[in-house]
Amino acid sequence: MTDDLLLTGARVLDPGGGRSGRYDVAVRGGRIAAVGADLPHRDARHVVDLRGKLLTPGLVDLHTHVYAGATYWGIHPDPVAWYSGVTTWVDAGSAGAYSIEAFRRAIRDFRVRVPVLLNISAVGLTGRTGESRDLENCDVDLAVATVADNRDLVAGIKVRVDRETVGRHGTEPLRRGVEVAAACGLPVMVHIGTTPPRLADVLALLRPGDIVTHCASAIAAAADGGGPVSPALREAHAAGVLLDIGHGSGGFAFDVLEAQLAAGLTPYSVSSDLHARCLYGPAFDLPTTMAKLLAVGLTLDEVVAAATVRPARALRLPDGIGTLTPGAPADLAVFTVEDGPFELVDAHRQRRYAPRRLVNDATYVAGRLLPPRLPEPPRPWIPLTAAQRQALQRRAGTVRALLTAPLVGPEGLAEQFPRQQAAVPLDPAAAVREPVADPVSEEG
Ligand SMILES: [Zn+2]
Repeated sequence: MTDDLLLTGARVLDPGGGRSGRYDVAVRGGRIAAVGADLPHRDARHVVDLRGKLLTPGLVDLHTHVYAGATYWGIHPDPVAWYSGVTTWVDAGSAGAYSIEAFRRAIRDFRVRVPVLLNISAVGLTGRTGESRDLENCDVDLAVATVADNRDLVAGIKVRVDRETVGRHGTEPLRRGVEVAAACGLPVMVHIGTTPPRLADVLALLRPGDIVTHCASAIAAAADGGGPVSPALREAHAAGVLLDIGHGSGGFAFDVLEAQLAAGLTPYSVSSDLHARCLYGPAFDLPTTMAKLLAVGLTLDEVVAAATVRPARALRLPDGIGTLTPGAPADLAVFTVEDGPFELVDAHRQRRYAPRRLVNDATYVAGRLLPPRLPEPPRPWIPLTAAQRQALQRRAGTVRALLTAPLVGPEGLAEQFPRQQAAVPLDPAAAVREPVADPVSEEG
């Protein structure tokens, strides 16, 4: 049988499949057909030479917000996916029971995959915050029924727990979220931040396999009074609660993560929490967030595992997503590994230097290369610094210059439709016929 695509000679890093080294990867029918040294070229329709490149499974971002145009935080994923290698965008709570149907329609035409963490609050993340201040929004039976109706989409339950979001209700929205998750056999992802409720009370409700996002948040660490490594966090980690980075615009601090690493609290997954307030910095994208973990001493293998197979396992995503196992969807990311040092900044403008970073060269979903997509302009309610505005204007100018210049000169063109000889009628009847249609419109 013929392969559709053969990627040859890359350094393959596939922690989920236990592979690290030089391999060829064959793709057939949108799935991984084979991974091996020196696969036969004659079997492939299209061969791509990736010598000198790093090839990983398409990245899985465990925390994003992709409900653009319907929520405060949402962005379109496709204009970012093609240059970042992220093929699975887990949407973390944009939609609740009231909006899941419209959300389903919104993501239908995306090129990337979007597993959903259903918000315990039926109103989801339409507004900036406060979705669980009215407990009527956190209806357990409604959420269970919504999961049952959307099993193909929903991979977990999202609960945001901080002072602004829950108001005076403390951990009650989380208790309800865990009840829904238990009834449906799903994990919960809890967002932490300002108190009350106390972090210890939040963590006490979690079960092994549940996820704490913004785990290295300085806001959460300071609010609790327990510092970056509270006894409650140690206990939760020891019990099998998964720590997720969830960078976002306020959820990540280098010094907090460093203290946690020193105490043996290694994050399970690295996610960007990419949304409309951190896309222009400080998160930018998932590879940049991954570089921040390299900057604090994690290895490339660990960081790639934390952005591929581990988030896929946390949500029990089907079919080998996040790995290059034969039979898995052919979601692939090609990177250049650049040697630094590269200066990076967290949510509080603390700086660190990454020894290396990954720069994306190509991204495939189901064996198809994602084409370039122009970024969308920022929404009017998103606060931007003068420097961010200037940078966006500069980028727009660069894109305009790129697209207004003719693609090729005369030497790059062919005469596709040679001009015709002057018409000589063969018979008098032909001379009065309607002229034939323009060949360009027939064939072009
Ligand atoms: Zn988020």
